[in-house]
Amino acid sequence: METKCTKCDEPAVYLRRYTAEMLCKGCLVKTSLDRVRRTINKNQMLKDDDRIAVAISGGKDSAVLFDIICNIESAYPRSEVVPFTIDEGIEGYRDKALEAAKCLVKDRGMKLEIRSFKDYFGQSLDEIVKHRYESNFGACSYCGVLRRRAMNDAALEIEADVVATGHIMDDESQTVIMNIMRGDSKRIARSNRSRSHPIPGFVPRIKPIMELSERDVVAYAHHLELPYHDIPCPYASEAYRTDLRLFLNEMEHKRPGTLLAILRSAEDIVDAFQHVQDSSKINHCERCGSPTSLKICKTCSLLDEIQG
Ligand code: SF4
Ligand code: ZN
Repeated sequence: METKCTKCDEPAVYLRRYTAEMLCKGCLVKTSLDRVRRTINKNQMLKDDDRIAVAISGGKDSAVLFDIICNIESAYPRSEVVPFTIDEGIEGYRDKALEAAKCLVKDRGMKLEIRSFKDYFGQSLDEIVKHRYESNFGACSYCGVLRRRAMNDAALEIEADVVATGHIMDDESQTVIMNIMRGDSKRIARSNRSRSHPIPGFVPRIKPIMELSERDVVAYAHHLELPYHDIPCPYASEAYRTDLRLFLNEMEHKRPGTLLAILRSAEDIVDAFQHVQDSSKINHCERCGSPTSLKICKTCSLLDEIQG
């Protein structure tokens, strides 16, 4: 017998396990939009007249983020959505993902702003990795640090009020547990800095779809046939995160709601470490002003090394 949607009488196509809802296609879309709207409102992520830079990677998470933000913002005529991509320069991967990103944005009649590592730092990630600098970091360390800087530079050029990224519940809960396992719970408060604690020169970041799970995102992208690229990056090697993902997926499967409970705990940690958000009490990099425990931040040191 056909299973009916919990919300209406249409045939169900998706079980959202952590809310125990069987959903038809229409209600999958509607409840996803409602969840994201709630996340945005609860955390005061957006204002009515924001120019929102939406970071698009070409993957499914940012495709869903872009679709949802466009839908939600269509009710706010004074706001503006500006999709952009950072091209790290990873042959056979980012170039393919870029095609999907362009397709996604074109379907909405918009243009994709593209900025690259080559533009900003003079070298692609492939070139940086090949060079084998003294610090000898793995590709992901260079990539992560430099992408943050490139995203901020791009957002400043775009004159965005805020940058939206496609972090989902799975990523967020893994990050929270990783920080706890490294004994660095203060970082949870620092990395979830609210818009009410801005840092001069840094465009605030928001994660509007952080309360959608990977399963939600896959179902949403599939049922709306959003174009996205699904090949893993050739450098992907974060063994620690992969172990944690497998463990948390297993826990979520056994006890649906585990990931959401981790996010709720992180909110309590952010509240408990309110003082960490007070920018007057943290050091700032002498070069770029970003918060750091060192004199010169990690990004500026890496750039020194790369740019000689
Ligand atoms: Fe960058 Fe690593 Fe992600 Fe590849 S897997 S895009 S190198 S952070
Ligand atoms: Zn710096």
